[in-house]
Amino acid sequence: MADTSATVQGLAVTDLAEEFGTPFFLYDADRLERDYREVRRLLHPGADLFFSLKANPNVSVCAVLGALGSGAEVSSLAELRTALWAGIAPQDVIFLGPGKTPREIEACVRTDLRAVVCESPAELRRLERAARDAGRTDVPVLLRINPDFTTKGSGLSMGGKPRQFGMDAGLLREQRHRLHELRHLRIRGFHAYMGTRFLRHEDIVHNTREILRLATELAAELDLPCELVDIGGGFGVAYFDNETDLDLPALAAGVDDVVGDFLQAHPGSRVICELGRYLTARCGTYVSRVLDVKESMGTRFAVTDGGTHHHMAAVGVGSFVKRNFPMRALTRPAGGEQPYTVTGPLCTPNDVLGKNVLLPPLEPGDLIGVERSGAYGPSASPGLFLSHGFPAEVMVRAGRAHLVRVRDTVEDLLSRQRLIPM
Ligand SMILES: *Cc1c(COP(=O)(O)O)cnc(C)c1O
Repeated sequence: MADTSATVQGLAVTDLAEEFGTPFFLYDADRLERDYREVRRLLHPGADLFFSLKANPNVSVCAVLGALGSGAEVSSLAELRTALWAGIAPQDVIFLGPGKTPREIEACVRTDLRAVVCESPAELRRLERAARDAGRTDVPVLLRINPDFTTKGSGLSMGGKPRQFGMDAGLLREQRHRLHELRHLRIRGFHAYMGTRFLRHEDIVHNTREILRLATELAAELDLPCELVDIGGGFGVAYFDNETDLDLPALAAGVDDVVGDFLQAHPGSRVICELGRYLTARCGTYVSRVLDVKESMGTRFAVTDGGTHHHMAAVGVGSFVKRNFPMRALTRPAGGEQPYTVTGPLCTPNDVLGKNVLLPPLEPGDLIGVERSGAYGPSASPGLFLSHGFPAEVMVRAGRAHLVRVRDTVEDLLSRQRLIPM
């Protein structure tokens, strides 16, 4: 079997499956580096790239990006600690999220961050008090705007709707005087995030232009600096048959123009572009092992040890139509493909990784790879469903395999529970 097995940097996936067990997420650090470097090379030098840990909070993934110069966008204490553990300097971290707890706010003012992204007037007041108590006079802040425009792009769009994120432009105008009364914060500019999974470069260029226009306008109206503007990101990757990848050179050229114009009008300012999915999706493969092959009413099923509990995005739970992530057989050469419905082991009919996937004849023991799975995998999946727990994560870097997350054991799962006295 091994001679037909897929490899990563010369290592056979069958050997990795043997060593680390299945299912697991496999990250190819070469690919991760290549994907980061490509955006970095094309993006305007006045724009800083920040990795959104939400897409993949693994510390080693974060460290690979950090070593290449990436900053980090974090939204919880654990994400903040992860970024710092990964070696990213506090100055290259921004903290964001609606509903920051008192502990998070305290961490924000005690860590010398690039900026805290503030999401409401009340949060500004809380941050101001915490900054005062910590003896600070200059905690850098970006005001998150809930944009009043929207984009009809492929992705999940955020603007033009009531949202729990950020502040409407009108609200910021009402707050004008209060914004100038902040003595312990230093407002540096604005933040806006328009949504995720944009696959048309025109949409992202349009968003960027509108965000920079709105930030410029608000800064002038409110008499605030516009020295740092976070233009969000939301660059998508193609998962399904009907999708194509972003035209990155065209995107970069469009964004370059818009950012160039902005920086010319605001010399010394910087722009932040925060990316999650685009940086990590393509380096990851979810590897699961076929446990059973069977037929029911004319449909051929391959039942694997991986599913919804680790990779809800690929299963598509919550979406109306089941669309397949790219999948392939990792232990079989091409030829004799037949349609398989590839399922997980969970006791729910929704636990389907792929429907009618054309795969070579499979047998128990074969490995299946779900590709483009390095973003919104385990951390965005119900890992406790049916008490299976979270899978291992393995990174191959410089030709060596590293276990970068230990698989949950039965003992791990049970040790979190308490039995009441009976
Ligand atoms: C989720 C999120 C991101 C990352 O989005 P991607 O589509 O994965 O790039 C960035 N910024 C904010 C504010 C987010 O909520």
